Amino acid sequence: MPMNLSSLSEARHIVGICGGAVGGSEAAALVAKAGSIAVVFEQNIRPYGKIEDGLPRWHSKLRSKEYAKIDENLSTPGVVFVPGTQLGKDLSFSTLSNGIGLSALILAHGAWRDRSLPIKGVDRFVGNGLSYQNPFVYWFNHYEESGFAGEGFPIHDDAIVIGGGLASIDVCKILNLELYARALGDRGIAVDIEQMEVRGIPRTLEAHGLTPNDFKIRGCTLFYRRGKEDMPLENIKNPTAQRMEKLKGTRVKIMDKVIRKYLVRFQPNVVPVEFIEKNGALNGFVFQRTEIVGGRVLRLENTEFEAHSKQVISSIGSTPVPIDGVPMKGELYQWQNNEEGRLVEGVYGLGNVLTGKGNIVESRRNSKQITPNIIEQVLASPKIPADGISRIMKLIQARWDAVGYGGRYADWITAKRPAT
Ligand SMILES: Cc1cc2nc3c(=O)[nH]c(=O)nc-3n(C[C@H](O)[C@H](O)[C@H](O)COP(=O)(O)OP(=O)(O)OC[C@H]3O[C@@H](n4cnc5c(N)ncnc54)[C@H](O)[C@@H]3O)c2cc1C
Repeated sequence: MPMNLSSLSEARHIVGICGGAVGGSEAAALVAKAGSIAVVFEQNIRPYGKIEDGLPRWHSKLRSKEYAKIDENLSTPGVVFVPGTQLGKDLSFSTLSNGIGLSALILAHGAWRDRSLPIKGVDRFVGNGLSYQNPFVYWFNHYEESGFAGEGFPIHDDAIVIGGGLASIDVCKILNLELYARALGDRGIAVDIEQMEVRGIPRTLEAHGLTPNDFKIRGCTLFYRRGKEDMPLENIKNPTAQRMEKLKGTRVKIMDKVIRKYLVRFQPNVVPVEFIEKNGALNGFVFQRTEIVGGRVLRLENTEFEAHSKQVISSIGSTPVPIDGVPMKGELYQWQNNEEGRLVEGVYGLGNVLTGKGNIVESRRNSKQITPNIIEQVLASPKIPADGISRIMKLIQARWDAVGYGGRYADWITAKRPAT
């Protein structure tokens, strides 16, 4: 049944939640199960966030599992879904944080702003030799859909990828899988990229009687400021010295497998210090070598070298998008209390927007840890009187009308479901 907004005449608690993905949907279900109404404002038509647009599309099993969890959460009685509604654009922070009179506002809208490469002036090459990870992976996940009209990306051989985390490895894999799939296509051999990801590039070629030497492909290179053993590909909390050594070994093994299976080249202990421009486009970087001393990255003098490429992809992390009215500390939101996820009076945050950790389990765990406390605060506050509820419901109805949402989550998501 659609949520009958006009029937809500009794005083209630209503919690607004921005973002309906892993963290937001988990919070919504908990709020609703505690007897309050959870209104989920989601910028996209679907609520899946980085599960749909961040995880590369070969994670199909994980993706289906996470879609199902989000669907289940958002189908909880008492959860009101408001798609196509962006905080900061369709509704202002001041409207949702105090103007409309919600019992509380939870920010669960993730980290969608690529951290800028710290080289002055380099961002003028975006779209002209330089790309950032988030739009690149979005393109990879969606470009095969019929009617895709988003930003397109070229794939050039010998690309430079800057980063060192899991997402940067995904970027490298996308580049090399695309390169070999296209080269095989040129020989009349059609391959499925998702199957090639499972088998790896050498084994896929072998199945067609080919080896990497049969192609003039160099593949991309990952440039990282530390060594393989420092890559945040695997982590444990507060490791002992012995476990740290083991962890380092595991990281090296993971990266070595990426190198073997996807033919990625790796350049450790380097940082880009200056861009190289050619004919008005980015054409690579001057890199400087580094040394890790006491855990810190030190640049080594007189070690500069040039690396040229007409495709550079930066994958050095994502931060929350600044929103008018949300207090900032540098590139992050200025949380008053990280443990409780408190931003300002009555406004909280959870998931990736708070933790800064791009990890599904971590977003869900954080939501489960933070939300009960918010519910406690909300239940201790006065209920919203009927006229206040009617004001909130009018705002929701206006958004539903603007996007053509009929109030039934199951119908909407069935009609709008993406390919898995
Ligand atoms: C390339 C890549 C690979 C990854 N691989 C893995 C992996 O292998 N394993 C793993 O555990 N994790 C991985 N992650 C990370 C993981 O997908 C995310 O950390 C996790 O899904 C974050 O969940 P979240 O709910 O906190 O945030 P998000 O998924 O970012 O959800 C935020 C939601 O808020 C919405 N939103 C954003 N801004 C607004 C706004 N202004 N108003 C309203 N709504 C808004 C978004 O549309 C989205 O639905 C990867 C991420 C990337 C980018």
